[in-house]
This record gives sequence, C-alpha cells and structure tokens, in this order.
Amino acid sequence: MNFLILYAHPTRSSFNGKLLDVAIEALTDAGHTVEVSDLYNINFNPVAGKRDVTHEVDNGFFKLQIEQNKAIEQGTLSADIIEEQNKLLWSDFVILQFPLWWFSLPAILKGYIDRVMTVGFAYGGGKWYDTGGLSGRKAMLSLTTGGPEQSYTERGINGDIDSILFHINHGMLAFCGFKVVEPFIAWSAAHVGDEGRQEYIDAYRNKLQNIVSEPLIQYPSLADYDPKTMTLKD
Ligand SMILES: Cc1cc2nc3c(=O)[nH]c(=O)nc-3n(C[C@H](O)[C@H](O)[C@H](O)COP(=O)(O)OP(=O)(O)OC[C@H]3O[C@@H](n4cnc5c(N)ncnc54)[C@H](O)[C@@H]3O)c2cc1C
Repeated sequence: MNFLILYAHPTRSSFNGKLLDVAIEALTDAGHTVEVSDLYNINFNPVAGKRDVTHEVDNGFFKLQIEQNKAIEQGTLSADIIEEQNKLLWSDFVILQFPLWWFSLPAILKGYIDRVMTVGFAYGGGKWYDTGGLSGRKAMLSLTTGGPEQSYTERGINGDIDSILFHINHGMLAFCGFKVVEPFIAWSAAHVGDEGRQEYIDAYRNKLQNIVSEPLIQYPSLADYDPKTMTLKD
C-alpha cells in the first residue's frame, strides 16, 4: 500500500519526529511505500486565500469555494496545492502525525486541510462522507499530548478524547471519504520518562505492523440518514 504521512511538528528531532521514523521503518519493512510531507520543512503556506488560484477573480470578489471550484475546472490551482493533491490521490492510507495543540491540529496542518482538501476535489457536488472525493482510502491520527490519559476521559478535566478528536476524524477525514482508523496516542510524551516513551514506540510499531487490519472508527453511513433532514432515521 502507498502511505502518505503528513508531519506537522516544527522540530524533526522531537518525539513526534521519532514516531515518524518508527512509522517509516515499520511500514517500509512491511512492504509498503511511504511518502512524507514534512510541512514545516517544506515551508508549507497554511493560509488559504487569493494566492491559492492563478486565475483572475471575477469582479475582484473572492469567495474561496467558488474560486477553488473554478480552479479545479480550469487547472489553475497553485502548484503547491496540486502537488499535495497528487500525493493524496497516489496514497491508499494517510497518517497525520502531530502534537495536540489547543485540543486540535497545529495551524500548519489545519491550513493543509483548508487549502489542499478543496471543494471539487475532496468534497462538494455530491461528494461527501461515503462518497467523498478521497473515498477508497484510509486515514489515521497519530498524536502526542501534554496531558495524561486520565485527564482526557469523560470525567477528566479535559474531557473525552474521542469527542475532542471528532472534528478531525469525522469533520475532516470521514467527510472527505476516508475510512478512519482508531488513533494512536502517546499521552503526556514529555513526562513519562524514557521507559514510557519506549513503550509508546513499541506499541506504535506493533500497530503499524498490523495496520491493514486495525479497527476502524464506526460511523453511520449516508444511507442511515434521512436525506431531507440529514438526521439519523428512526
Ligand atoms: C501551542 C501549544 C498548544 C498545546 N496544546 C495542548 C493541548 O491542547 N493539550 C495537551 O495535552 N497538550 C498541549 N500542548 C502540549 C503538546 O501537546 C506537547 O508538548 C507535545 O505533544 C509533546 O510532543 P513533542 O514531540 O513536542 O515532544 P518533545 O518535547 O519533542 O519530546 C518529549 C520527550 O521525548 C524525548 N524525546 C525526543 N526525541 C526523542 C527520541 N528520538 N527518542 C526518544 N525520546 C525522545 C525528549 O527528550 C523529551 O523529553 C500544547 C503545546 C503547544 C506548544
């Protein structure tokens, strides 16, 4: 399988960088092909806007989704977006490797979603969820946290991690058509000591060795929703 890893940490020698190394090695050893987009290293521009398209904007009124659609039709998306879209099309499986920042993605990775997962490519015109533009592929979050696991439970001070990650797993990945694999989380990576970090490294390697059969997060399918109200049928 073709794996694309989106790496979003400012420091390559961080613990996130170690998890990236583990993934490259484990997946390659298992016979997969791995491509990495190291977003800080390529100086990825995360700010969506007029520079995302190379065509003239009618009347000077810029609305991102309209211009993204036009750019897809005319082939006028900016080169950096096309390059990343081609990597996504090449991939069978996308891994997002990042530290949890403000309960979410680092801005550089959120900006990747804003700019690369364009309307007309990843969603829109009838493409969403099961029929999303990237359907037929899988995706998985691999993240580190500052807070410990107990603090990310229903009764924990930060709240349940599945709810916190829902906007990424469901709102970004499943929305664009990916089947989403249960995340890998290295809790409190800076505070668990070398032994704790080695356990994370071993657990992640194990998960990657069996990645093809790793459990998916179960979401209802489009057919489970009333098409008028977009709520679950009785
Ligand atoms: C803007 C911002 C917002 C944040 N928001 C949140 C939040 O909402 N929730 C939350 O829980 N946390 C939050 N944090 C904390 C953040 O999630 C953690 O700092 C991060 O996950 C730690 O991962 P790291 O890769 O940066 O660790 P590092 O600091 O790189 O590494 C952690 C430890 O691993 C060791 N290490 C590094 N490299 C290796 C290696 N190659 N092999 C073995 N050990 C190694 C290091 O010695 C270090 O002690 C936030 C941080 C920032 C900056």
